[in-house]
Amino acid sequence: MKRLLALTAAAFLTLPLTPAAASPAGTPGAPGAGDPYFPDQGNGGYDALHYDLTLDYDPSSGRLSGRAAISARATQALSRFNLDLVDTLSVRSVTVDGRPATYTQSGSELVVTPARTLRDRRGFSVVVRYDGNPSHVIDPDGSKDGWIKTNDGVFNANEPQGAITWYPGNHHMTDKATYRYTVTVPSSRVAVANGDLVRQATKGGRTTYVWNSREPMASYLATVSIGTFGLTDRRIGGYRVTTAVDPQATGDATGFAERHPPALDFFSELFGRYPYSSTGGIVDHAPEVGYALETQTRPIYPRVPGESLLAHELAHQWFGNSVTPTLWRDIWLNEGFATYSEWLWSDKLGTQTVQAAFDEAYARPAEDEFWQTPTADPGGPENLFHAPVYDRGAMTLHVLRRAVGDDTFFAILRAWAGRYRYGNADTAAFVALSERVSGKDLGGLFDAWLFKPGKPSL
Ligand SMILES: [Zn+2]
Repeated sequence: MKRLLALTAAAFLTLPLTPAAASPAGTPGAPGAGDPYFPDQGNGGYDALHYDLTLDYDPSSGRLSGRAAISARATQALSRFNLDLVDTLSVRSVTVDGRPATYTQSGSELVVTPARTLRDRRGFSVVVRYDGNPSHVIDPDGSKDGWIKTNDGVFNANEPQGAITWYPGNHHMTDKATYRYTVTVPSSRVAVANGDLVRQATKGGRTTYVWNSREPMASYLATVSIGTFGLTDRRIGGYRVTTAVDPQATGDATGFAERHPPALDFFSELFGRYPYSSTGGIVDHAPEVGYALETQTRPIYPRVPGESLLAHELAHQWFGNSVTPTLWRDIWLNEGFATYSEWLWSDKLGTQTVQAAFDEAYARPAEDEFWQTPTADPGGPENLFHAPVYDRGAMTLHVLRRAVGDDTFFAILRAWAGRYRYGNADTAAFVALSERVSGKDLGGLFDAWLFKPGKPSL
């Protein structure tokens, strides 16, 4: 939002004859949130607070019928604003505060002009009715993202840009909101989403699932996945564990639900309390999807995860989901932390010590291209999930730990998870927090590990 306001101010300066700031008519919201990796992503002029999504999906025809009711607050006087939604889905109507609004669709932008100007700082509601046959998008790194069809439904993972493929919204991670989903599918299928299962009801061969995600969430962490899942919803240890497992999934799913509390207890002790009202996972049969994703409260896996992958996605609930980067280039704050958490979990299980994991990663020769990518900026959206983001990110944390000692290091992680809980923060904030908590000048360490290409010496 700060970037966006700066852009708007600059536009006023270059157009002195337009009395836009004072105009009772308001001005258009920016079409993007200002992220250099994905300039069209997100929108300016408002803050989305809550999404109430009502979806009806038929896996055999691939047809989705949707109603998105969005509660938002204007951050400027708004003459019009954008939502992000692919134009291959057809918008049938848009209302703003109950009045019909005019709209156009172009690429991933749905441009809405309300009947009346929206006043700055006032709440407003938008209802979008839409339908079509959603499909995934291909990311800059070549992977599938969004509404990914499977042989029995949908594997729905949306990092970094897939949310545009199935619902309209403000799809940059800086605009978090709460969610409620009401999803109707044929009764042979299950629809699983983030948060708590509120109820399910069957009528005329179709079943409606209602899910409530009460803590704020970035769009890329939303999921509505559909398939022939076996659904379990139980209290195990101190957690509500809700799992959806495809019986076709590769791997042994025995005890899948029970495997969550031990890792969550371990991380809660190190990072602070688990941030969400429920946990669990979605295990789909999706051999063509090459990744798992830490979808909020309930990660999605294309096969039954091993201990490292399970720990990685659960650690993301603190690092990535609760504390979310401000810009995509800060992705190491997600992946470096989750990778380091894998190392911590392997150490706890006695599989491999953290030091051995570090040594293995650090053993890459200095001339390896791996070392040319600085941790804090992988250089572009095509490199978002490259190895340095993960391994050099985790090594950065280990070097920090060795510099400040165990007690201070975990105090830094708890302060990070606590201070920015449910919010956004960037690399500079992590550096500043580390120096404040440790009382040390860590400029040289972070410069070598985060900002400069080349293999840092130890
Ligand atoms: Zn990850």
